[in-house]
Amino acid sequence: MKYAEVAVNAPGGHRHTFSYSIPEALKVEVGCGIRVPFGPRVLQGIVVEVTEKPSYPDTRDILQLISSSPIVSPERIKLALWIADYYLSPLWRSIALFLPPGFERNTVIKPKSIKYLTRVPESEKAKGVSAKQRSVLELLSESGGRLPVPQILGQLHLNRGIIKTLLAKGLVVEDEVEVSRDPLACRELPLELPFTFTDNQNLVWHPIEAAIDGQGSAAKPNLFLLHGVTGSGKTEIYLRALAETIKCGKKGICLVPEISLTTQTINRFFARFPGRVAVFHSKLSQGEQYEEWRRIQKGDFDIVIGPRSAIFSPQPDLGLIIVDEEHEWAYKQSDQTPRYHARDVAVQLARLTGSTLIMGSATPDVETYYKAVNGLYQLIELKERITPLGSTPLPEVSVVNMRDEFKAGNRSIFSRLLKAQVKLALEQQEQVILFINRRGQSTFVECMNCGFVPSCKRCSGSLTYHSVEKRLICHHCRRAYPVLRSCPNCYSKEIKYFGIGTETVEAECRKLFPYARVLRFDSDTMAKAREYEKAMNSFRKREIDILVGTQILAKGLDFPGVSVVGIVNSDTGLNLPDFRSGERTFQLLCQVAGRAGRGITAGRAVIQTYNPGYYAIRYAALHDYVGFYESELNYRREFGYPPFTSMVRLVYSHSNEEKCRIEAARLAASIQMLMDEQGAERFKLIGPAPSFVSRLRGKYQVQLIILGRTVHNILEKVDLPPGWILDVDPVGML
Ligand code: ADP
Ligand code: ZN
Ligand code: ZN
Repeated sequence: MKYAEVAVNAPGGHRHTFSYSIPEALKVEVGCGIRVPFGPRVLQGIVVEVTEKPSYPDTRDILQLISSSPIVSPERIKLALWIADYYLSPLWRSIALFLPPGFERNTVIKPKSIKYLTRVPESEKAKGVSAKQRSVLELLSESGGRLPVPQILGQLHLNRGIIKTLLAKGLVVEDEVEVSRDPLACRELPLELPFTFTDNQNLVWHPIEAAIDGQGSAAKPNLFLLHGVTGSGKTEIYLRALAETIKCGKKGICLVPEISLTTQTINRFFARFPGRVAVFHSKLSQGEQYEEWRRIQKGDFDIVIGPRSAIFSPQPDLGLIIVDEEHEWAYKQSDQTPRYHARDVAVQLARLTGSTLIMGSATPDVETYYKAVNGLYQLIELKERITPLGSTPLPEVSVVNMRDEFKAGNRSIFSRLLKAQVKLALEQQEQVILFINRRGQSTFVECMNCGFVPSCKRCSGSLTYHSVEKRLICHHCRRAYPVLRSCPNCYSKEIKYFGIGTETVEAECRKLFPYARVLRFDSDTMAKAREYEKAMNSFRKREIDILVGTQILAKGLDFPGVSVVGIVNSDTGLNLPDFRSGERTFQLLCQVAGRAGRGITAGRAVIQTYNPGYYAIRYAALHDYVGFYESELNYRREFGYPPFTSMVRLVYSHSNEEKCRIEAARLAASIQMLMDEQGAERFKLIGPAPSFVSRLRGKYQVQLIILGRTVHNILEKVDLPPGWILDVDPVGML
């Protein structure tokens, strides 16, 4: 007798498998979909392991196989187990990530098919046939006896009832023929040939090539961090790596942060590998998604490209995984269980399948870079930009202290330097991007005269203004302070509540440069992907002189006409009570500044700030990633933040504020007890405190943050009642 350890689609969110016995007649393998008895019910399951001995003595039989062959490959079953373990998420939810669309609702969509009607030989002699029925039989005879049902009904203007009657009388038979709906009908783009690599590209290429060809040194992992400034030729490296992988008879997966913002990149894949690229995304209907899933599983595509969920595509013979812009937060699933990070899942998948992994970024995540520096990944670098005239330097970045502007009597949101730069660019018929950093929902408070930012007396975290309560609130301890009328430091009354919008900047542009063509561009105005692309195209065609927008502009867009980039307010975000706010600021500034000077003209960037000394701003202005990384790492080490610890965030929400407080206090106490048992000095517990968004859709939210090297040891022992959300390695503390 053999036994199966099964992940069961049962309510309750179990993290363990259930044991079942395998009846002789069933050919059950790891990864098979099955039906099992579970209490009084019959539920879906996926086989995780086949064993000689059950882990639970009293087993019942597996009832049925859902599919004749495994649905999930053995490596991916292992990966699902890792996800359940690492993200402390239910086993079924972790496996479900790998299942075909529709599987859980028991609506495994049949491939699209068309019904055909065939006339039976004796039907001519049939009696009692109505005129309409006869017309169908005649049409069939005229067409060789067989036709698609939709065609018959359409041609004779009949409805389906008549077919049923004919079938019941035994005059016709019906069968179904599967048709391919080909949702991935590839975009037709002119074939593009690879470039001859530059010397720098050759240098980073050699170790990648060796890894793909299986010639890499065993001492070095096949995991690469490709650190290269924007425009340094990283995408070219990805394309060559894919070509090499295909040459070796293998396939690839390429992750991009967001499909709609990366059309340029995706089109390059289509142009280089016509007909061999599948785009994996959720905009397709469920039927189409299923069709696509099946074709990928069959091995129809050499490359699957898509957002974070594409890492779960059933791409067989995997040889290469690419994670473009690996630092992007979009790779983290924050809104539902399992709260996985696609980059970290990609690392595991590469290890389990022996694939080569390339993570690319101009501003690597500090934690990724730390791992690379410590030998977990091979660090490879592209330091120069490639432009139409060979390599041009990175844009020259000026930092303007807005406090000086204020003192000099300039009350505009544009500094004198930025105004002059924009004017010059317009005169020379070059383009301008103006960027507004808008992050978080609250407003930041700052003295315009001396730069003073009010902070909490107890926690030293900066305070944010809550318009509902009309108070300044500390997010660590929830303490509220009255709104400032004057600065406690310099007594100036010029206290500013930040929150410059794109509208303000657009209006100011129209006032200062009435002859310029201005387009405002943010998530409000560009809700639809089509509008976004339209705007991008008219900007590329130079029908627009100044583009005003938010974070969306920081993505990898390539506009050769842009010579000036202005960052109107770089400070929003600096004072957020999140240990990653420095890193975020640095990344944003580098990416935005990187938009300038991608063509022939060298670019210029102007960063406006009230904190010119802030390390993230200083290093961004110098394009000095390593300098930034070192200061950032010192700060993280000092305060015990990742990568020196792991972080877990627990959030509880409830419509009753009191209930929230009590439940959070209860859990905090039990966690504190476990920490004391395991050595209190090894952990840090922050909270309970209200979440940054303290009320969400009418519910109060409280959070606990645990930091420590071995937080898993604690959490495995904690009993989390329903209502708690658990996020391992959260990308935000807010
Ligand atoms: P990144 O992905 O780092 O932003 P890209 O791969 O997009 O960089 O390269 C930047 C630009 O340089 C692109 O327009 C690309 O077509 C071009 N390019 C890349 N490699 C070469 C090369 N070896 N020779 C000529 N042009 C190149
Ligand atoms: Zn406080
Ligand atoms: Zn002041």
